[in-house]
Amino acid sequence: MNKVSVECRDIFLSYGKTAVLKGVNLLVQPGEFFALLGPSGSGKSTLLRLIAGFNRASRGELLVDGKRIDDVPPYARNIGMVFQNYALWPHMSVWDNVAFGLVERRVARHALRERVQKALDLVGLSEFGDRRPNQLSGGQQQRVALARTVVIEPQVLLLDEPLSNLDKNLRVQMRQELLALQRRLGITTIFVTHDQEEAMTTADRMAVLDRGVVQQIGTPADLYDLPVNPFVANFVGTMNVLAARVTRTPGATELAVEGVGMLRAAPDLPGATGATSGDQILASFRPQHVQVVGSGGPRDPDLAWLAGTVKSSEFLGEMVRYRVSVGDHTIVADQAHEAGRSPIVRESPVSLGIHPRHVRLLEPND
Ligand code: ADP
Repeated sequence: MNKVSVECRDIFLSYGKTAVLKGVNLLVQPGEFFALLGPSGSGKSTLLRLIAGFNRASRGELLVDGKRIDDVPPYARNIGMVFQNYALWPHMSVWDNVAFGLVERRVARHALRERVQKALDLVGLSEFGDRRPNQLSGGQQQRVALARTVVIEPQVLLLDEPLSNLDKNLRVQMRQELLALQRRLGITTIFVTHDQEEAMTTADRMAVLDRGVVQQIGTPADLYDLPVNPFVANFVGTMNVLAARVTRTPGATELAVEGVGMLRAAPDLPGATGATSGDQILASFRPQHVQVVGSGGPRDPDLAWLAGTVKSSEFLGEMVRYRVSVGDHTIVADQAHEAGRSPIVRESPVSLGIHPRHVRLLEPND
């Protein structure tokens, strides 16, 4: 199969006076499994429907395989879309649901049978052709919806919150199945989700959207390790973000956090490079990079230390998540759990240690 790219160039879209997409640029590579991640209302479905041809941009260009398709109607786009509610025909058998698109395209009987059989095999439902959708579980219905879409051999597969109707365990299982299916078919796939774990565990790359603007595009690890702004930092994982003033550069950048104390950031970290004395910036660090030490415990001098009070602890099995108040702020700190050790109790005074190499500077008001 010819693998194709999908490109959005400066796409704008409004519903009446409400601007929903505000200059979206992204390039999905041939064969990629690409996630559109963002909170509810950020414009993900609108963008997906625009790629499918159900929405029209007020400005910008949409290209598949390098060719503009803005004027191509949905049925002629060779793009398959799986809707959130699956949209199966309730009165038709599974077989007829899957065959539907081929009948519409007047595919000859013999070829049609072969293709439907192949699509049902692909999703593990070859024994279920005679059933009606309401005789299937949620996960099986989801697979029928997939089979019905891939049977037409689209060049691009679009999935709108494909797993949101399934319960948690099934969702985890189905996302692996979905990924395996995508890998087998090698089809360029764009899926919409508001669930960062779903995006992180499956996507080759993803775009984080907020209020119709792409905030960042990259691999899950890129976005986690090097978020460009506080929105991405907090949407992809948990991040401590503190407003700070730069007090000294170069060398280790020193940061004064009002009411909290001094932090340091390694000068060669992305974000810290351009900072100069007096700048107002945001210091960010992940919970797992904070060391929690009870009073009198050993304190490594390479770390910056802040004094705080434990406000809560959550035992999560492999780790304990503490919320520690430091001045007016609450810092989240994750500590590996050691067998037999009890979490530090509430209201205990503690010191929080943060290594400069884990402090990343972000621009405020991004
Ligand atoms: P997401 O998929 O990220 O949850 P949507 O793309 O569905 O977001 O919606 C983005 C914004 O556009 C929301 O504020 C929503 O209320 C609005 N919107 C979506 N569809 C329509 C429509 N048909 N008419 C008017 N506003 C709409």
